[in-house]
Amino acid sequence: MTASTLAPFRIAITGAAGRMGRMLVAAVLAHPACVLHAATVRPGDSAAGQDAGLLAGVGACGVILGEDPAQALLAADACIDFTGPAALEEHARLAAQAGTALVVGSTGLQAAQQHFLALAARHVPVVRAANFSLGVALLAALTRRAAAALDADWDIEILEMHHRHKQDAPSGTALELGRAAAAGRGLDEAPAQTDRSGPRPRGDIGYAVLRGGDVSGDHMVVFATEGERLELAHRAGSRRIFASGAVRAALWCRGRTPGLYGIDDVLALAG
Ligand code: NAD
Repeated sequence: MTASTLAPFRIAITGAAGRMGRMLVAAVLAHPACVLHAATVRPGDSAAGQDAGLLAGVGACGVILGEDPAQALLAADACIDFTGPAALEEHARLAAQAGTALVVGSTGLQAAQQHFLALAARHVPVVRAANFSLGVALLAALTRRAAAALDADWDIEILEMHHRHKQDAPSGTALELGRAAAAGRGLDEAPAQTDRSGPRPRGDIGYAVLRGGDVSGDHMVVFATEGERLELAHRAGSRRIFASGAVRAALWCRGRTPGLYGIDDVLALAG
């Protein structure tokens, strides 16, 4: 089959009443290669039974918000999950059972949740990213490169700002940027510093967190030494960029072998 004769790619969205969930519904409905296969909300959510498109503000689409993820994932090509860490075990298990690729945008994942994703990735493609924007993927690559070029006389500080509702801190993206900086310095992990009292330990990676308003996500990586400073920054103007990146990742899973992938794989930035 050529690209133009491929059957529409069926995407299920879990957590479709959330801030990102509604963006994802709109992005899937707007994509010519996709159909919205199903959409779920948290059991007991007052949005259950409503039309997913109406809730997303893009007009009725005929997909009714359900409460049963097993039903939603059945016969879906991919599931996009931005529900947060708590439901991940169940959604990863159901995706593996249904043979449905899984795209996970939730942040604040602990080792247990990473483990469930790794188990699912034995059966289906799983793409996980703390940030699905192309700009942030490039910011991470540039951070890694700058950290490799600059020695430990250059202090590395990572500043992030998000909306007032955000649950985790520092953001998953800030932590990814810290990992990129550490990798540039040839380290698996660099000492993370969130307590800013006292002199700054040499070689630490410092994090600063701001919360307020409806900020979609600002990240800045600062390299500072005596007499000069380098700043790399990204600002997300809208959550739409994360939604379209996640849909792109879901489509990338078509025909892919099972495994755990990241945004660099989707964007072919790896290596
Ligand atoms: P939100 O609280 O607005 O949305 C989460 C939704 O998931 C809620 O509606 C909640 O009821 C629902 N939910 C929870 N458990 C559920 C379950 N078992 N079944 C169905 N629905 C369930 O939060 P948000 O701002 O949309 O962010 C969600 C997650 O996505 C966070 O972890 C956030 O950090 C992350 N995020 C990632 C990216 C990225 O690019 N990777 C971008 C933005 C946000």
